Amino acid sequence: MTNIAEIQSQIKASSARSVVEAALTKARDNENYHALLSFTDSRALERADKVDSGQITGRLAGVPFVVKDNFLAFGAPTTAASHMLESFQAPLQATAIEKLEAEGAICIGKANLDAFAHGGSTENSAFGPTKNAFDMSRVAGGSSGGSAVVTALHIVPFALGSDTGGSIRQPASFNGVVGVKPTYGTVSRYGVVAMASSTDTIGTFATSAADAEFIMSIISGRDARDMTTLPDFFVPQAIRPAQKIGLIKEFMSDEVDPEVRARTNEYAERLRAEGHVVEEVSLPIVQYTLAMYYIIVPAEVSSNLARYDGIRYGHRAAAPTSLGDLYGRSRDEGFVAENKRRIMIGSYVLSSGFFDAYYQQAQKARTLLIRAFNELFESYDVLLGPVTPTPAFRLGENTSDPIKMYLADIMTVPASLAGIPAISVPAGVSQAGLPIGVQLIGQRRSDANLLSLARSLEEK
Ligand code: GLN
Repeated sequence: MTNIAEIQSQIKASSARSVVEAALTKARDNENYHALLSFTDSRALERADKVDSGQITGRLAGVPFVVKDNFLAFGAPTTAASHMLESFQAPLQATAIEKLEAEGAICIGKANLDAFAHGGSTENSAFGPTKNAFDMSRVAGGSSGGSAVVTALHIVPFALGSDTGGSIRQPASFNGVVGVKPTYGTVSRYGVVAMASSTDTIGTFATSAADAEFIMSIISGRDARDMTTLPDFFVPQAIRPAQKIGLIKEFMSDEVDPEVRARTNEYAERLRAEGHVVEEVSLPIVQYTLAMYYIIVPAEVSSNLARYDGIRYGHRAAAPTSLGDLYGRSRDEGFVAENKRRIMIGSYVLSSGFFDAYYQQAQKARTLLIRAFNELFESYDVLLGPVTPTPAFRLGENTSDPIKMYLADIMTVPASLAGIPAISVPAGVSQAGLPIGVQLIGQRRSDANLLSLARSLEEK
């Protein structure tokens, strides 16, 4: 177990340099998981020396961490796991990284992901998949698979990721760590490669809810460079007793793996034992959320990826014969198949003949989903359910069938579309030894309550 406090005492007993060196060595010893795409050795060691000499201080002085490779960071390229940005050197750093560095934390590397964060297994990485921390024949989950695995392997005590439709929660659940997708607007997205701007969020992986809470308190807050950020509201809080918790019935159907349901029911029992009330609730509209998501998100993706034209930055095709050829080949060579699929779906649903039938309808349905959640939150403090229908699937199992891959997102996309916070908490393992997580979902800005609830069970 590597938590932040433990790392801090190691730094005190030895040095920041030796702790950072040990993390880099461990990362390289575990390269067969393919969790990291690059290392930031020289910058990391330089900062570690400054911690040791007292030039860098802070609440995370010397503590190593990793960021998903769609965060702009110094010391290594920012690839978004794509050929498009393969050699892109960031001219600036993401606000979330700047905030961690201001507290003395040290980024040691960039984690693998599905290219441009499109996917749920890290198999869409242009550089090859990440392997699950518990079973190398299985997927790490995604899209933040690398960040989840470096945390699960205890290479670093925490890692940053992005969650647009489940990309923090699902890999957290597949690798037995805590994953936080905050309220939309909690953490600045400045300096993070955009996927779908109306649901993109930044959050963290950690080995405990207590550590995740601490990291969230540092990275959250208003940022003038991201106009969607909310005024600072994230403040760790004491556990509120006797909460009303709704177990989402539609997430517990026969189609969900029995072991996943069993772990979720056990977690509900543990909450009851703490004096909370857990009751079954119904959210019938969730059956439509996957359809909404896979219209709205590709629409936004097609717009956000339009900037990669081979001219301003990113991959440029060699020897173009015309401007059209330059655009076409640069984009063809720079994007993976899943990126192209989303650009095509997005362009289709936004085209004038189909806009009303698809995009407009999906946005209307999204409003109904938000209302349905709000209605439940009039009577319940928190909603509970699984994170995914099954534990980690096998590498290659879903790659030939995009719909099958999308179906795995069925329980994570609702909170994303509603902009509400949701966390994934380890809830045990399957008979085969695969981790299973449960999801706690709350109303807007109740992030700290979700974490204190998870923390209160962790302390037992
Ligand atoms: N698996 C989802 C998708 O492919 C989530 C991706 C994400 O959150 N970045 O869209």
